Amino acid sequence: MRRESAPDDWCCLGLKGAYEDRGERGIAVHFEKVEQGSFAFILEARAVSEEDETNNPPLNTEFPVAITTTVYIHNCPWCGISLKNFYQPSRFG
Ligand SMILES: [Zn+2]
Repeated sequence: MRRESAPDDWCCLGLKGAYEDRGERGIAVHFEKVEQGSFAFILEARAVSEEDETNNPPLNTEFPVAITTTVYIHNCPWCGISLKNFYQPSRFG
């Protein structure tokens, strides 16, 4: 689901950069198609990159560790715009 085509333009460079950083360690944004052709945006925080997670054995700790945390967002964390209003399906190539 995270490999949808990207929007043709972005509300700001912050969100564009976060989208380009998906799968890397740190904070990123991706989106998924939902009902009626609209998109849901997801803020993701990764403790390790997706590649390292895939290519290494699971962490062996004495306490729970969250490798990835995600949350659905409704406004851009950088410029504050309403994502639902700005990112209409026609913006996606
Ligand atoms: Zn923005």
